[in-house]
Amino acid sequence: MAGANKPFMPQLIYFEPRALEYPLGKELFDRFSKLEVEIRETTSHNQIRDLPGDNDFQKYRTAKSTLVVGIRKTLKFDSSKPSAEYAIPLATGCMGHCHYCYLQTTLGSKPYLRTYVNTDEIFAQAEKYMKERAPEVTRFEASCTSDIVGIDHLTHNLKRAIEFFGATDLGRLRFTTKYHHVDHLLDANHQGRTRFRFSVNSQYVIKNFELGTSPLEERINAAIRVAEAGYPLGFIVAPLYLHKDWEEGYKELFDTLEAKIPKHLTKDLTFELIQHRFTKPAKRVIEKNYPKSKLEMNEEERKYKWGRYGIGKYVYQDDQATRLRETVENYIHTMFPSAKIEYFT
Ligand code: SF4
Repeated sequence: MAGANKPFMPQLIYFEPRALEYPLGKELFDRFSKLEVEIRETTSHNQIRDLPGDNDFQKYRTAKSTLVVGIRKTLKFDSSKPSAEYAIPLATGCMGHCHYCYLQTTLGSKPYLRTYVNTDEIFAQAEKYMKERAPEVTRFEASCTSDIVGIDHLTHNLKRAIEFFGATDLGRLRFTTKYHHVDHLLDANHQGRTRFRFSVNSQYVIKNFELGTSPLEERINAAIRVAEAGYPLGFIVAPLYLHKDWEEGYKELFDTLEAKIPKHLTKDLTFELIQHRFTKPAKRVIEKNYPKSKLEMNEEERKYKWGRYGIGKYVYQDDQATRLRETVENYIHTMFPSAKIEYFT
């Protein structure tokens, strides 16, 4: 599977009947009904059992191109450290095929995409959280459960969220993406309260592990358009991965960023750095869904870290992590001296 140059279009769509009681649900139903795509009904967005495919491998691929339009019932937001206080649920699932994706752990058997039409209820909940923390600012992360930008051209939920937070005093929105389909977001009334981040990596990682996402060059071009539209800009380098010649690979990445991004757009730039990690359940899912993957997941070579819900993760050994961190931070300090490195984890 090559990179994604065209915006995502689902091959199969499900609707929860109650989604049609919401204006957005009705609008999406009318729009999708005009396309040549099959629409089915489902009682709940959590129970799609009749996905086409002869085996799990095929069903997984079908799921990644299936969109379910439903209602978000759980309005309790998860926490989202270290990038924000809360995860705001606008959608779940992603059409990308990144082998290392964290959704392998969190979504497991339900990899299909879900979008929610009760955005007003979701925003009302965000409002409550902001009130609880006032006068502190509250940050909401919109990409904990999906690549929200990659599907937003279909629903404009993210655009609504950007404008909702733009109208608050104490709310901030953030999200990260590997897609370049950002044009509908450029005129959103963001008021500088949304930080738009792009996930970038070495060519080795993109080519081998980030299938079905936008090419690096397109991500960078989109980042420039977004920054020119006045959004605070950030890059997230995740996962930082120790591949052959990784130092050169990451140097090339930062050289490219430095060469392409106009200087005046780098004054308020942030970087987030996340080393590669995996969990045992994710490893099983990855080996099943991407049996030929070159992704290295050898528990014996890694350091074990206790994690949430008893699911521990395997990260690099301390000396390897330190080298990764120092090397990449050094590139950033040299090439983007006024940028802020928010964290390395
Ligand atoms: Fe996962 Fe992000 Fe890749 Fe989508 S783009 S598969 S959310 S890592």
